[in-house]
Amino acid sequence: MKEFSLEQAVQAVHGTFCGDSALLSRNVRGVVIDNRRVEPDFLFVPIKGERFDGHDFIPAAYEAGAVACITERPLETDHPYILVEDSLAAFQGLAEFYKSLFSVKTVGITGSVGKTTTKELIASVLSQKYDVLKSEGNLNNQTGVPLTVLRLEAHHDVAVVEMGTNHFGEIRSLAKIVRPELCFLTNIGEAHIEHLGSKEGILKAKSEMLEYMQPDGHVFINGDDPYLKTLRDTRMDVTAFGLGRENDIYAKEIHSRGLGGTDFVIHVPDAEFKVHVPSPGSHMIYNALAAAAAGLALGMAPDEIAAGLAAYRTIAGRMCIEEKNGITVLNDVYNANPGSMRAALDVLAYAEGGRVCILGDMLELGEQAEQYHRELGRYAAKNADRVLCVGALAKYICEEAHNAGAEAEWFRTQDELLEKLGGFIHAGDAVLVKASRGMRLERTVEQLLK
Ligand code: ATP
Ligand code: MG
Repeated sequence: MKEFSLEQAVQAVHGTFCGDSALLSRNVRGVVIDNRRVEPDFLFVPIKGERFDGHDFIPAAYEAGAVACITERPLETDHPYILVEDSLAAFQGLAEFYKSLFSVKTVGITGSVGKTTTKELIASVLSQKYDVLKSEGNLNNQTGVPLTVLRLEAHHDVAVVEMGTNHFGEIRSLAKIVRPELCFLTNIGEAHIEHLGSKEGILKAKSEMLEYMQPDGHVFINGDDPYLKTLRDTRMDVTAFGLGRENDIYAKEIHSRGLGGTDFVIHVPDAEFKVHVPSPGSHMIYNALAAAAAGLALGMAPDEIAAGLAAYRTIAGRMCIEEKNGITVLNDVYNANPGSMRAALDVLAYAEGGRVCILGDMLELGEQAEQYHRELGRYAAKNADRVLCVGALAKYICEEAHNAGAEAEWFRTQDELLEKLGGFIHAGDAVLVKASRGMRLERTVEQLLK
């Protein structure tokens, strides 16, 4: 942590300092929102969550040595504190100030699907040449992004930051903290359509990132996406990547190595080079092209980019492929929406032997939820021999898959599925497991790998 004074913190959060003003020159050694992580001279910021109100832990923070706490209500204490209207906004203000202390290059990533995967691939490529800070796991929300930025250290050359949203204005407030140079938009799908109204609405929400792009920044888009493509009509600073030859950066000579990944040639305006991405699916080609674009923008050579792509490893729950007892499990339980479900089913299609998918509800899809599940059922029937469905909405998947000729079964709950699972899985099968986070299908994966 680069230290700063309490006085700078008060200014950054536009707060009112309460306490002995001689303390304002004291240094803040760390900023945390979890009181269990407070160390001497840290600043504690209480966030109100669904179940807890961080304000309840302010006494514990002082006990652990906090130099001060931020608070939305006056405290009866002899310790110094900073009074603010909104502690989350204050936390973001602190992160914005902290980021301004550094001159690192910053890569921002948003989009409907593929953000985390693209972030990991970009970080994998850039790490071949630079000291990279990346968002941990999926920490892409209103507290996750400030937490990421607050991990910056003087030795970092580049920060790769994932930004997520389900409401208007959220990406704007994250981009204001991050101030990215390189802005990546992965695609515009159906995720969070419930709050954002339409795909045009989703494009608008994701484009908020560009409002806080650095003046010398650059935008990178999936140019095969019909919505993102429109950005090329209105801006000069856009590089498009994709499979179509009209893109600035495109993939050609694509050879699948089954579940082992894909080999292809990357075409950029003045060069072509061969790469291997060790994770299957055409969506991985897009994510890899994004990573290549980031490497090129930061002056990397083709062989460094290729090495970075080859070094990529999937993170837990995102298309982790594991073999046990003659069964190949495609563990993609982390989350699901219509776009990522189709991508995962496309990966399953690469498998040899029996193809089974275990699909659970996709949540947060609003009024069209039934239609999305029905469409998925027809898609699943094309890619899988057996379609096992779990949850209330997944009943529609089952009906359509059955009508389309697949062997389909529906289970009301995961427990009912687990009881009968053995009868549906045979040696040599590849089994895809995927649903929204709330369905917690990792239990099914555990049973398959037992
Ligand atoms: P979240 O909103 O949960 O943060 P995300 O945008 O970070 O999601 P990932 O976690 O990277 O998305 O990917 C989720 C799933 O979407 C992957 O497991 C894969 O099946 C699929 N996917 C990954 N990249 C793409 C892509 N470019 N296009 C479509 N689907 C993709
Ligand atoms: Mg993510």
